[in-house]
Amino acid sequence: MTDQNARYREEEFAIFNHLESEVRSYARSCPVVFATARGAQLFARDGTAYLDFLMGCSSLNYGHNPPELKAALTDYIASDGITHGLDLYNEAKESFLRELEETILRPRQLDYVVQFPGPTGANAIEAALKLARKVTGRSNIIAFTNGFHGLSLGALSCTGSRFHRAAAGQLLGAVTRLPYDGYLGSAVDTADYLDHLLSDPSSGVDLPAAVILETVQGEGGLNVAGPEWLRKVAAIVRTHGALLIVDDIQAGIGRTDAFFSFEAAGFRPDIVTMAKSISGYGLPMAVLLIDRLLDVWQPGEHTGTFRGNCHAFVTARAALQHFWRTDSLAACVREKGNLLKSRLDQIAGKYDPSRVSAKGRGMMRGIDLKSGEIASQVVRTAFQRGLVVEAAGPKDEVVKCLPPLVIGEDQLSQGLEILEDAIDSVIGG
Ligand SMILES: *Cc1c(COP(=O)(O)O)cnc(C)c1O
Repeated sequence: MTDQNARYREEEFAIFNHLESEVRSYARSCPVVFATARGAQLFARDGTAYLDFLMGCSSLNYGHNPPELKAALTDYIASDGITHGLDLYNEAKESFLRELEETILRPRQLDYVVQFPGPTGANAIEAALKLARKVTGRSNIIAFTNGFHGLSLGALSCTGSRFHRAAAGQLLGAVTRLPYDGYLGSAVDTADYLDHLLSDPSSGVDLPAAVILETVQGEGGLNVAGPEWLRKVAAIVRTHGALLIVDDIQAGIGRTDAFFSFEAAGFRPDIVTMAKSISGYGLPMAVLLIDRLLDVWQPGEHTGTFRGNCHAFVTARAALQHFWRTDSLAACVREKGNLLKSRLDQIAGKYDPSRVSAKGRGMMRGIDLKSGEIASQVVRTAFQRGLVVEAAGPKDEVVKCLPPLVIGEDQLSQGLEILEDAIDSVIGG
């Protein structure tokens, strides 16, 4: 970089460097200022186009600014629809609830009630943990290795990452950590271990209020729980009088093909948390689905000023209406998920499996580079070539591909070519 260029770059980021806290993170691997976005693409201020395989960490499953949702939102705003309504009854919420009931819950015979917590994933987890403890009168929670459930204190106590836990600066309690499916290799069934611990009155593990899990661990590095393991855990949890919380914040809303990531395994969680892509437009929104019989909340016992953002209700409703009234999106995710899998397998196949392997499920897949340093070089190289991706996993060693579910095959292939070139140039060359 010439001196003049370097000076220009410094000037370009001056306000961020001066005023924004060091806590910012994703911005560090994408050193440009973005201005607009459409579909699978982000555009920098100078007009450079980037393919986006980060997609707000699966918050934008229908792409950036999907036209059907944008039209619903701009119409609503133009007609002076209510923007902020606390949890007052309003038409935007009414329409969303109706659509959720008719398009998602009833066809699946799910008898859940809906809670709107504060509009973040972490707040949905806080609410789920509180409710499970209130229902059972127990305090312990069982969470799994490499789980990620958010960073507020209650949620953080369920999150595995030592880096994030250390930031709490205090003891994080009342959670027992157990090995996720496959954590101890394929020979050890960790569901049996869970059962063993809960059946043995002197195992040292207190009977839990709830077991919380992701069916595919997003931030934890795309570890996939098998359907049998999930069904077994669900049955064990029931036997021991605990609740099962499925955190579907990242894996849900079609990311693994069906609307809920647990549908294929055929069990029913007691509580489901959703956030990220539920509004479909990147607007903040979180939802808890609660088994009707477990809804023991007192009015106002868990509140928040922004419980129920009407703009998010409008786009969430439009998303369900547009993408989920038929099975076509799920079918499309199955097809493109297979394409993604075969391309990632092909990329990984060029290298020794001890250095590169592919993992994940549906359109939530990635490449395990076994080293955070290498993954970070791949992420930076890919960015220079026009692809926004990020790394996840215990050492940030897994480059994660979360393209929009509606991406065209040409853009999907183009992004994967950039990724392949980046990997080749970092470790192949
Ligand atoms: C992102 C995420 C959360 C936390 O959501 P926030 O909106 O960042 O608080 C919780 N669980 C999972 C599985 C997530 O991916």
